[in-house]
Amino acid sequence: MLQTFFREEHDIFRKSFRDFVEKELAPHTDEWERKEEFPREVFQRMGKLGFLGVGFPEDVGGGGGDYWYNVVYGEELRRSRSAGLNMSLMVQTDMATPVIAALGTREQKDEFLAPAIRGEKIAALGISEPNAGSDVASIITTARKDGGDYIINGAKTWITNGTRADFITLAVRTGGAGYGGVSLILFPTDTPGFKVNRKIKKIGNHASDTAELSFEDCRVPARYLLGEENMGFYYIMMNFQGERLIAAVAAVAGSQHCIDDALQYGRDRAAFGRPIIKFQVWRHTFVDLLTELEAGRWLTYRACDLFNRKQDAVKEISMAKLYMGELVNKIADRCLQFHGGYGYTDEFIISRVWRDSRLITIGGGTSEIMKEIISKRVGIG
Ligand SMILES: Cc1cc2nc3c(=O)[nH]c(=O)nc-3n(C[C@H](O)[C@H](O)[C@H](O)COP(=O)(O)OP(=O)(O)OC[C@H]3O[C@@H](n4cnc5c(N)ncnc54)[C@H](O)[C@@H]3O)c2cc1C
Repeated sequence: MLQTFFREEHDIFRKSFRDFVEKELAPHTDEWERKEEFPREVFQRMGKLGFLGVGFPEDVGGGGGDYWYNVVYGEELRRSRSAGLNMSLMVQTDMATPVIAALGTREQKDEFLAPAIRGEKIAALGISEPNAGSDVASIITTARKDGGDYIINGAKTWITNGTRADFITLAVRTGGAGYGGVSLILFPTDTPGFKVNRKIKKIGNHASDTAELSFEDCRVPARYLLGEENMGFYYIMMNFQGERLIAAVAAVAGSQHCIDDALQYGRDRAAFGRPIIKFQVWRHTFVDLLTELEAGRWLTYRACDLFNRKQDAVKEISMAKLYMGELVNKIADRCLQFHGGYGYTDEFIISRVWRDSRLITIGGGTSEIMKEIISKRVGIG
C-alpha cells in the first residue's frame, strides 16, 4: 500500500474489512441487485464488527481513526461489486451522520449517532426536494416553532435509504427565503404525519432504495435541531465535502476494478486469431485510461490529505468529484465497448458498472455545480 498516507494500522484494517466484504457481502450482491434491496441485518452485522464507525470518535462508539480509515472503507467496499449497496452504506457512514458528530449535543449523539454506528438505526440525508436539487437554498419544506417543538410540512425526494431509515438528517426552512433561513433537524421517521410516498424506480444502483417522502404536520421536539437555527446551509455545505470526497474515493476504486475486469476479459476473448487486448488500439486505450485514473487517484488522495488535516479542501474535493465522476463514466463506457455484445448483457458486470456510474456526475452535486464552485474558488466566477 501507499506508505505516504496509509500506515500499518490502515493496512491491518484494510485486510480485515476486505475479508469481510469478499466473504459476507460480495457473494450476495447479485441477488440484492436483482431484488432491488438488501437485508437490514447488513447494517447490524457491520455495526457489530465496528465497520460503520471507523472514523468517528470513540465516545460515540467509533474507532477513533483518521480519514484514511474512511478511504480504506470506501475503497474496499467496492469489492462488493454493488454501487447501490455501497451508496446505502456510505449514506449511513459518510453522508447523513458526520454532521451529527460535528455539531450534535451529547443527547443527539446518544440518540441518533451512536445507534447508527452500532447499525441499530438506519440513517438518511434529506436535502433534495422535487423543486430544489442543485439549488439547496431554495428548499421549501418548513419547520415552524410551536412552543418546545417544530412542526414540519413539505416533501423530499431522491432520499437514499428513505424507505426504511429510522431517522433523517433533514434540511428545513426555519427562517426567511434563501440560504439564511435553512436549518438541519434530526427527524425520527416514526413521527406521525411522515409518509414514504413511493420507492423510485432507477436505471442503476438497484440494491439501494431511493424514496419520495412527505411530511404533514410532523411534530418533533426543538432539541432535535442540529447546531444553530438558520445556519443549516453552511452545515450542509460543510457536510457535502465528506460526501463528495467519499464519492470520488469510491469512483477511483470502482474504475480500477472496471479496468482490471476488462483486461482479464481481453486476455480471454479472441478475435482474428489473437486475444483482443493484443490489438494496439485497445492497448493504447487502456494505457490512456490507466494514466488518467492515476491522475484522478492522486488528485483524490491530495484532497483526502487536506481533508484529513482539517485544511480547506473545497477546491480540491470539488475537482476530485468532478474529475472522477466524468472519468468513471468514460472508463465504464470504453470497457463496455471492449466487451462487444457481451457488454450489453447482464452476463458481465460491466453493464451494471456502466449504469451505476451514471449517478456519480449527478448525486451529491452535479459536475456543473462542481464547476461553479471551482470557478469561484479560482477567482473566475
Ligand atoms: C440515485 C440518487 C440518490 C440520491 N440520494 C440523495 C439523498 O440521499 N439525499 C438527498 O438529499 N439527495 C439525493 N439525491 C439528489 C441529488 O443530490 C440531486 O439529484 C442533485 O443534487 C441534482 O439535483 P436535481 O436532480 O434537482 O437537478 P437540478 O438541480 O434540477 O439540475 C438539472 C440540471 O441543471 C444543471 N444545473 C443546475 N444548476 C446549474 C447551474 N447553476 N449552472 C449550470 N448548470 C446547472 C444541473 O447540473 C443538471 O444538469 C440523489 C439523487 C439520485 C439520482
